[in-house]
Amino acid sequence: MSAYDLLDLLKVSEPQAKPPTIYRALEFLLEQGFIHKVESSNSFIICPHFHDPEHISILFICDKCQQIIEKHSQDIETQLKQLALQSDFLIKHSVLEIHGICQPCQP
Ligand SMILES: [Zn+2]
Ligand SMILES: [Zn+2]
Repeated sequence: MSAYDLLDLLKVSEPQAKPPTIYRALEFLLEQGFIHKVESSNSFIICPHFHDPEHISILFICDKCQQIIEKHSQDIETQLKQLALQSDFLIKHSVLEIHGICQPCQP
């Protein structure tokens, strides 16, 4: 969902709602790890793994229906952490966005 989709939904119960209300709420949810920002589509998804806020999120994004499937991989996480360590880089937040076509949209 985009921020404006959320604003439209919120306006049903809170007609006074303005964009900053949504952005503050999204910022909070992002900080807590409850949602992920999908940069390539400028939207947000709920993360089902919020008990582990440090996780690396792998998002498979369907270019036809825009469906997003979130996956995790301990292997990829370990590899990325190793690469970061070699580069003296402290990972704070990571989302891998992978584009393609989901199963129902495949010919
Ligand atoms: Zn996640
Ligand atoms: Zn699809």
